[in-house]
Amino acid sequence: MSGSHHHRRPQTPQELRTAALETVLIERGLVSTDAIDAVVDRFENEIGPRNGARMVARAWVDPAYRERLLADGAAAAAEFGYGGMEGEQIRCVENTPEMHNVVVCTLCSCYPWPILGIPPVWYKSPPYRSRVVREPRAVLAEFGLELPDGTELRVWDSSADLRYIVLPMRPEGTDGMSEDELAGLVTRDCMIGVAVPRAGAVAA
Ligand code: FE
Repeated sequence: MSGSHHHRRPQTPQELRTAALETVLIERGLVSTDAIDAVVDRFENEIGPRNGARMVARAWVDPAYRERLLADGAAAAAEFGYGGMEGEQIRCVENTPEMHNVVVCTLCSCYPWPILGIPPVWYKSPPYRSRVVREPRAVLAEFGLELPDGTELRVWDSSADLRYIVLPMRPEGTDGMSEDELAGLVTRDCMIGVAVPRAGAVAA
């Protein structure tokens, strides 16, 4: 099966333009690498994952949307106006008391950009990519997530052609919360599957 899994690809013209622009801005003293890092951090942790969080919250309050999300993640994202590069095909996998889902890209860093932003550094790191497949329970424990022994763990390997989002379980004690408040509980890590939402915690 060579050639069907398009992970390692040459840099796109957009990537080359971005790199060139960054170099010029830094060389002319117009921005600092720290400033760029701060912007990247915002897209990793704050702006990007808020899109996915809104989809999760909608799925929690609207059973028909949940069905559509599970049937076709990219179409469900498009209902919110989210879509485009690195998000053409998205599959949503649902956590249940019996099954917990975790997402990885074992070969590189495929990730659903339009709904989760850009991937965090650890997602792209060789240790996460190899270990989460071999010993997912140990890796989740390092993220602070201990699952009941009876919960099965499923690891999904992303590719350039198919990316994943985890639909976490709605936490206990959230019955009175609005959709916006619910979205505030859904962190990026919950949608990768290395964390679960907690009623007391609020996402960035
Ligand atoms: Fe990949």
